[in-house]
Parts: sequence; C-alpha cells; structure tokens
Amino acid sequence: MTLSITHLGSGSGGNATLLSTPESKILIDCGFSGRQLEHRLGLIEMKPTDLDAILVSHFHGDHSKGAVIANKKWDIPLMMNFQTCDRLGLDPVNECKLFESLDLIAMGPDLSILPVPVNHGEADNVGFIASHLGERAAVVTDLGSWSDELARHLEGCVHISIEANYDSKRLWEGPYPDRLKQRITGRGGHLSNRQTAELLSHVVTNKTRSIVLCHLSAQNNAPHLAESEVLLEIDDFFEGDISISTQEGPEFSHYLGQAEPEKVAI
Ligand SMILES: [Zn+2]
Ligand SMILES: [Zn+2]
Repeated sequence: MTLSITHLGSGSGGNATLLSTPESKILIDCGFSGRQLEHRLGLIEMKPTDLDAILVSHFHGDHSKGAVIANKKWDIPLMMNFQTCDRLGLDPVNECKLFESLDLIAMGPDLSILPVPVNHGEADNVGFIASHLGERAAVVTDLGSWSDELARHLEGCVHISIEANYDSKRLWEGPYPDRLKQRITGRGGHLSNRQTAELLSHVVTNKTRSIVLCHLSAQNNAPHLAESEVLLEIDDFFEGDISISTQEGPEFSHYLGQAEPEKVAI
C-alpha cells in the first residue's frame, strides 16, 4: 500500500501534481492544457478519466486553467475554496465542491487531504497535506512567507514538495521591473531559495525521506542554486533524497510506504 507523489510539471508555465494510492487518484492543481494533461498522464500510463478529482490551490492560471478544462472535457470533479471558486467564475453548487482551510477532506479509504492556508497576495491560496496510512506528504507552492502554522503541518512529513521560486541576487540584478520584483519578494509573493532553506531547516526531521523543490522561476533561479542553498541549511541532518521538479515532467515519483524514490520510465 503506497501513496505516490508525481509532479507532472512545475513552474509559471503550469503546475500539476498527481497523488495516487490503490484507491484514489487526485491531482493537486492543473495549469496545463487538456492535451498536455492527457500527454503527461499518458507517460505514466494513466488517462484523465482515471482521476477522482482535481484540488485547486488558488485561482492563478498556472494552477487552475487546466482544471477547468479537465472538468468540462472529462467531467472530473473540482474542489477548491470559496474565493478560488468565485475568482474562477464557477458555480459553487454545480461546478465545484468547496472545502475550507484546516477541514480534513476524506478522498477515499486510504487518502485524506488537509488544506492549509498560505500567504499569496490577493489569492486565498492553500498548501495541501496528504495523509496515507499514518504517514504524511506535503505539496506547497506560491507563498510569500511561511507561518508557524504551516511549519507545524510540515514537521514530520515523510515527503515535502515546496516551492523555491527565486534566487534573490538573480531577481534583484535581473530585468524585471521594480514593482514586479517587490511583488515577488513581498509577503504575498513567492519563497526565495533562502526562505525555503530556512523553512526546511525548521521542519525536516528524521522522518523526512524526500524533498522536491518546485515552481523554480526560469528567469530568476536555477536548479543548482536552489539545491545548494537548501543543502547548506539541512545537509548536516537530512539523509533523504532531494530533487528538483522542472516545467517538463513527469520525471520521478516519490512514495510513502516505500523508502526509495523511483525514476519514472519514459
Ligand atoms: Zn504559481
Ligand atoms: Zn500563484
């Protein structure tokens, strides 16, 4: 009995993460076109109609665009909070099922999901903590700062997927307009590599077996920068696997209930 966590792709061009148990198959976010979703699921021998639901973290298109398409095209149920539903212009009765932060959602006999609020400007964003047979996995992206509450939920997770959006030096020396730089670095923007490293240094325990850094900015970050900044903080006590999820996926899966990560055969 395992829960597999597979990023179908991550970044401002689209995000989707598959959580799969023997009884439940759900996507966290879908920012890909219907064709891309079909293609990426096909690479791991799945099809969109295998999905039980798509949980949408917030209304930004890189997380929600494909979810709405998948609902219309394949009738896959959508779940989100009220503000996300409202911002997407969906009917909260007929077009999606609403959840509330910190209310546990039972997805099936072997999977439950806890939405945890995170700071992301005007978007009422949530991270997701999945529970499977007593173990937990986190998928958290798009937050400008982290709270003690979020840290409490991440602590003890066997798997943590967390954004490491930008390298501060690259962002500030880069070509973005000042207002955009301020928005990205503000409390409602995105986590820098440094912030992610600090958060992980507080929450990684000897239970943590795998970390995926995701939603890296193509302009303002690079995999080696994110990984080295994080390792600087946690290398002394973290003995698990650390990977980077890129825009092109799926590249690998991680598992609860099984120690070693596996490459996806594509
Ligand atoms: Zn995003
Ligand atoms: Zn966002």
